Amino acid sequence: MGHGKHGRKATSKHDGWDVTPADALRVAPGFDLAGFDHASTPGWKHGRKAGEALVARHAAELSELQERLFAEGRSGGARSVLLVLQGMDTAGKGGIVRHVVGLVDPQGVAHRSFGVPTSEEARHHYLWRIRRALPRPGYIGVFDRSHYEDVLVVRVDELVPADVWEKRYDEINRFEERLVEAGTTVVKVALLVSPEEQKKRLLERLDRPDKYWKYNPGDVDSRLRWPAYQEAYQAVLDRTNTEVAPWYAVPADRKWFARLAVSELLLDALRRLDLGWPPADFDVDAERARLLAT
Ligand code: AMP
Ligand code: MG
Repeated sequence: MGHGKHGRKATSKHDGWDVTPADALRVAPGFDLAGFDHASTPGWKHGRKAGEALVARHAAELSELQERLFAEGRSGGARSVLLVLQGMDTAGKGGIVRHVVGLVDPQGVAHRSFGVPTSEEARHHYLWRIRRALPRPGYIGVFDRSHYEDVLVVRVDELVPADVWEKRYDEINRFEERLVEAGTTVVKVALLVSPEEQKKRLLERLDRPDKYWKYNPGDVDSRLRWPAYQEAYQAVLDRTNTEVAPWYAVPADRKWFARLAVSELLLDALRRLDLGWPPADFDVDAERARLLAT
């Protein structure tokens, strides 16, 4: 971006991160979910208060970059951003949307959550509902769950035969590659909560009448299949972690860190677009004169 009022000049090299958040969180070859520390804070050693302060400090820049993206879309640009949030129940997907995506103008956000396919959706190819929900130029699309459910819950619950879901990894890679070619920056975030923390969060839902609505008896069934889900997530991270659409593994046991991580990943994606403001497609001086004469 240009050197607007939110330039980075005054701050340390990586805003307090050891390396860029993207480098700290990017899934590396050989990534092993079994050894993952869900309470860790990769790349960040300044604790919660400083983490929350950084999110607050970056909020204005995030918001301005979103507006630049939107303006570009309005002026014929093709670019957009898609934030894909995947995670087990209680991983904090909703909180990310509220606390991170909530930092930008909602008019520029296309949010969509994907549940059990409706009867109409089920009659189509699994990518049908995804394509229809993709962000238009200028928008930040946010997927709360995504096409990855079609190789996660679908695989674990054997909703289609193995030879059907097996082909989907390559198909998803091709789909995302075309998406990126068409101008969408894809940021895929796996919010990784530990089974212990999930239990705590589910119990809390049962302890609090204001949380009952979030509780779904089916969540316990998914918990019972934790190892199968781990295997399915591992396959996703092994097979769909592409150069053009990489995965970021975000430890989710500490909500403040997950929010810091995702807001920084989103900011990084927007910064990399090097967004300007669209030039006037009219004669500014002539318009000023015309207006002053009224
Ligand atoms: P929630 O995100 O808590 O509203 O739950 C949505 C539920 O929909 C989860 O249990 C998902 O596993 C389920 N779901 C999402 N996509 C699919 C899909 N393609 N097939 C089957 N279940 C799905
Ligand atoms: Mg749920």
